Amino acid sequence: MSETEYDVVIIGAGPAGYVAGIRASQLGLSACVIEKDKPGGVCLNIGCIPSKALIHQAEVFASASDLEAMGVKVDRSGLDYSKVFKKSRDAADTLSRGVNSLLKKNKVPLIEGEARITGKGEVSLKDGKKVRGKNILIATGSRPKVIPGFEFDDKLVISSDGALMLEKLPKRVFILGGGAIGCEFAHVFNAFGTEVTLVEMLDHLLPLEDSETVGVLEKAFTKRGMVVHTSTKATGMKKTKNGATVSIEGKGGKKEDVETDLVLVVVGRGPNTENIGLDAVGIKTERGFIPVGDYYQTTTKGIFAVGDVTSSPLLAHVASKESEIAVEYIAGHNPAKKVDPMAIPGAVYCEPQVASFGLNEDAAKKQGVSYKKATFPYRGAGKSVAVERSEGMVKVLFDPKTHEILGAHIVGADATELIHELLLAKSSELLPEDIATMIHAHPTLSEAVMESMRAAEGWAIHI
Ligand code: FAD
Repeated sequence: MSETEYDVVIIGAGPAGYVAGIRASQLGLSACVIEKDKPGGVCLNIGCIPSKALIHQAEVFASASDLEAMGVKVDRSGLDYSKVFKKSRDAADTLSRGVNSLLKKNKVPLIEGEARITGKGEVSLKDGKKVRGKNILIATGSRPKVIPGFEFDDKLVISSDGALMLEKLPKRVFILGGGAIGCEFAHVFNAFGTEVTLVEMLDHLLPLEDSETVGVLEKAFTKRGMVVHTSTKATGMKKTKNGATVSIEGKGGKKEDVETDLVLVVVGRGPNTENIGLDAVGIKTERGFIPVGDYYQTTTKGIFAVGDVTSSPLLAHVASKESEIAVEYIAGHNPAKKVDPMAIPGAVYCEPQVASFGLNEDAAKKQGVSYKKATFPYRGAGKSVAVERSEGMVKVLFDPKTHEILGAHIVGADATELIHELLLAKSSELLPEDIATMIHAHPTLSEAVMESMRAAEGWAIHI
């Protein structure tokens, strides 16, 4: 039986895989995408999108206090969390269907099934069907990491997957892991009235972010009544009649037992590299991840890997960018090499938001990089006061000699949008004076970005 041979067979339809399929089609390559679950991967189905839908609704609910400040009496007792849940599923399903349509529009077949590489240029599905490709692109993504003593049972101990599927709020939640996902869920639970204990082993929340900016978030979380423990380990857990007691140990061996109704473990994610046939084509993993070259080639010719299965930051926009580079390379174009880690924006959607790219001050100190920093508080931008979001700051590190922007860190309202002006400046090799002198509309939060650049030049006006 003759089989179609595609230019690229893509395994996985997450932000790496489906974008690869569309880009391949745009470049005139024949491609198919094989997916064992829903199109859109973790990001659209059990990650970025439903979590942002929950965050949005949490913020709408919490903003009832703004109405109360106007004298409007708000009865919050009618909250039906199952409706909140349903809306988050609707958002996920809409976008997952959107991926289906985009693939169709670009004439990229979406093949349902679990794929395994069974030889050079050959992918087999569980039902025995084979798909052939001149190139194979692995985009199988990642799944929540389990830690001993806190294994998921999907009832008492849950992962982010379980947290997104909750239809009822617990009275108390213990969140193990203060990274982006842990902080976002802490924000959601707290906004809806659940008592939150958030525990992070390293010395501040969002350990990869600049500690000074994260300090603003930690203060805000504590002010909102969350119990935040940093430099603290969860050492064990005992089930109780109604929930669990989690034992924690902080700095200097200080021990405490925390009673909770639900334990959410969000301590990282591991790559989906087992059972996809890497052995059949001689690809060896490193700590589970697939090592890749400048254009996301694996050690085996004709096989590429992108997204969460590689060891680059586990972010949807990184996954998509990597797939574009890989496919452009396969198409014989001359794409820029691997994503520059210093040019990747990070965004955390709690209140206040945190966003950044490039060098942070802690890393600069550790690495002995010479830098100057400029900061500007949100409260110096009139808009932040007018809209009652004056908590926050813009912080930029730059080279003391050349004034090149080395990194930027924003904490505050809309930080996840504002960061892009600074990232564009960095990638276009603009200097602080270029933004400092560009007219920004008044009143906007972007004025805080402009003022931080003026601060870099020593002439911030509103401080
Ligand atoms: P995935 O999205 O994991 O997709 C892989 C796909 O491959 C899946 O659909 C899977 O079913 C399929 N697959 C696996 N094995 C096979 C097989 N053998 N055969 C066929 N199909 C297979 N990132 C951000 O940038 N911003 C955010 O705000 C953000 N929020 C997040 C919130 C949460 C709660 C979580 C869990 C993650 C979040 N992320 C966020 C991370 C983001 O979701 C991932 O980085 C992104 O989904 C990775 O894309 P990917 O295509 O590499 O893999």
